[in-house]
Amino acid sequence: MTTHSNAVEAGRAVVAQALFGMSPEELRAVVEGLGLAKYRAVQLADALYKHRVECLEEITTLPVEVRERLAAEGYRVGLPEMVQTAKSVDGTERYLMRTADGETVETVWMPGGDGGERGDGSVAAEEEVGEVGDAEDAVEAHISESRYGAPASLGNKYGDSEPAAQNDERDLGGYKRATICISSQVGCAVNCQFCLTAKLGIRRNLTAGEIAGQVAAVLNRQRVRIGSGKGVEMPSRINLVFMGMGEPFLNYDAFMKSVHVLRAMGIPESRMTVSTSGILPGILQFANEPVRPKLALSLNASNDAVRREIMPITKKWDIAALLEAVRALPLGKREYVTFEYVLLGGVNDQPEHAREVLALLKGMKAKVNLIVWNPGPGIDYRQPTPEDVAEFHRMLVDGGIPTFTRRPRGRDIYAACGQLKRTVEPGLVEISAAR
Ligand code: SAH
Ligand code: SF4
Repeated sequence: MTTHSNAVEAGRAVVAQALFGMSPEELRAVVEGLGLAKYRAVQLADALYKHRVECLEEITTLPVEVRERLAAEGYRVGLPEMVQTAKSVDGTERYLMRTADGETVETVWMPGGDGGERGDGSVAAEEEVGEVGDAEDAVEAHISESRYGAPASLGNKYGDSEPAAQNDERDLGGYKRATICISSQVGCAVNCQFCLTAKLGIRRNLTAGEIAGQVAAVLNRQRVRIGSGKGVEMPSRINLVFMGMGEPFLNYDAFMKSVHVLRAMGIPESRMTVSTSGILPGILQFANEPVRPKLALSLNASNDAVRREIMPITKKWDIAALLEAVRALPLGKREYVTFEYVLLGGVNDQPEHAREVLALLKGMKAKVNLIVWNPGPGIDYRQPTPEDVAEFHRMLVDGGIPTFTRRPRGRDIYAACGQLKRTVEPGLVEISAAR
């Protein structure tokens, strides 16, 4: 190869990049760089975000020559590639997504009202019931759709039963809402002692396109139509939670950019919730965003001593500092801040802890999501007893805090909270590359 062609190759390598994830300005720069009319940038954005194309050939609003030029210049759509999937008895699906450089992250699809949440009596379902008591009676608490207030019945161990509307959805033979849990980093640097993702360490940040691209890939697979975009199912209500692998506030800029990409895809920020382990500078910056998702803080302990044990990051920013920052967050009229609280048997699940939580959250527009700890190999905690969970829940409700005990989803396939660990196992369904 001549020096000249080497330079051309090198040049190409530099511009080779994903279009998915680009802002309108960046797309404009791409079309201008190719000497195309400005409106081509709008067509590109529509194809990427409204129609969720998977390859350049699908962008039929662009002439073939333009698509070929884009390809020749090294551009591609660049959605993460879904390489593996596992389906839980409760309808939850976990996907392994591969990025262009061969890294993998996990994304979880949790359909609401699919009728499968009772389990089918398989070993996995029995295990789940055995672990947490009457799991099938657990309260479902879709983060942005929660029904506030005390459970209607505390007769069963985990609160009230599914809403009546769920039956209607079953009758329709489909679902009307679903939650997608997305990853923000490959691995995580935060090192919470109860979390499987922590075991990976941090490998790298995801880009905005890789974060929002997980949602596009899942919606395409599920054929969910949003607005006038691509898909065949009835318009569905999609909630997003940034609660997969990684700490979103340690990848702040890409996370916030992905929020804007997701809005361009037709998902309002009011349907998104970002969960942080308590990265103080991130919370402060977040409070100044004119457009932002809802906030969830992984409190997980009722005092600094316990929190330092289970979340060493507390040594850097303690509970008081975090709560002060959260109190300063300007809230919308109907907005609450969610506090997640992973219940670890004998560690943070006793009545004295519930009392401390009530004292911490006093006067705040707060709600609490209790999460029964999901076990994982090599993590030395035990699950709380159903009685302790019920008592903790009751005490918070009696103290005036809207409280939900999260229904464990997909535990049998390691798709539940804190179980995302780039699980590659034999026997899972392989998905052939679509692109
Ligand atoms: N890094 C962010 C978001 C991802 S973790 C954060 O920590 O908030 C999402 C939620 O799962 C957090 O509330 C975390 O405390 C919880 N979690 C982690 N490991 C868990 C486990 N093994 N069982 C139950 N919840 C867990
Ligand atoms: Fe990271 Fe969240 Fe797991 Fe902590 S709980 S290690 S912050 S992913």
